[in-house]
Amino acid sequence: MPRRKAARKRFGAASDIAPERVAAILSRLDRKYPKARCALHHRNAWDLLVATILSAQCTDARVNLVTPELFHRFPTPAAMAAAALPELESLVHTTGFFRNKAKNIRGAAQRIVDEFGGNVPASMETLLTLPGVARKTANVVLGSWFGVAAGVVVDTHVLRISRRLGLTSNTAPEKVEQDLIRILPQERWIDYSHQIIRLGREICIARKPRCADCQLEDLCHSGDKTWRSS
Ligand code: SF4
Repeated sequence: MPRRKAARKRFGAASDIAPERVAAILSRLDRKYPKARCALHHRNAWDLLVATILSAQCTDARVNLVTPELFHRFPTPAAMAAAALPELESLVHTTGFFRNKAKNIRGAAQRIVDEFGGNVPASMETLLTLPGVARKTANVVLGSWFGVAAGVVVDTHVLRISRRLGLTSNTAPEKVEQDLIRILPQERWIDYSHQIIRLGREICIARKPRCADCQLEDLCHSGDKTWRSS
C-alpha cells in the first residue's frame, strides 16, 4: 500500500482533527516558537495595515525594506490620503503589483480619514470596507495590533502546512480559515498563524520540507515528507 494511503488509514480525517492531536501540535509549536510575532515592521495600526497590503505576493523582508521611507514620507492616513499617486507607486514599486497597491493604500487612507476619524477601525466588518483589505489583511491587523481574534490569518505557509498536518483538505484560503476556526481554540487563533509562518519559513518549506528537523514530525503524516521517524 502506498505510504500516503497507509498513513490515511492509520490516522483518518476524524483523528487528524481530534482535540488531543490538535493540542499536541499546539503544544509543540509553543515549545519551538514561544515568541512568534508578526515579522512586518510597524509602530501602529496604520503602519501594519499598509505593510500588510504591500505584503501580498511579496516577502515580508522586501516589505520591510520599503516601509521605512514610505512611513517617513506619509506617517498618517491623512498624509497618505493627500499623496500623489506617482510618488506612491515609485515608493512601493519593488513590492510588485505596485499600481494596485498604491491605489489601495491611498484609497484606504482616504476612507479612514473620511469615515473613521483618521483611526484604523478595529473590527472585521469595518476593515473589510477598506480598498485592498480582505480577510487575511484584516486578521493580521486585528490580531497583531488590536489583539482581537476575529479569525485565523491564512497565508501561503498556513495554507500549505495546515493541509500537510491534515487540519484541512481545502485549498481556498477562506475555507481553510473556516476549518481552522472550527478546530483551533479561539485563544490560539492569533499565535497559531505566527508560529506556523515561522515553521514554514524555517522548516516546513514548500518544495523540500526539512522533516528530519521538524518538531511535529511524529505527529505529521503528510504524503510529501522527506524523512520519517517510523
Ligand atoms: S514533518 Fe515535514 S511535512 Fe510535516 S510539518 Fe514537519 S516539515 Fe512539514
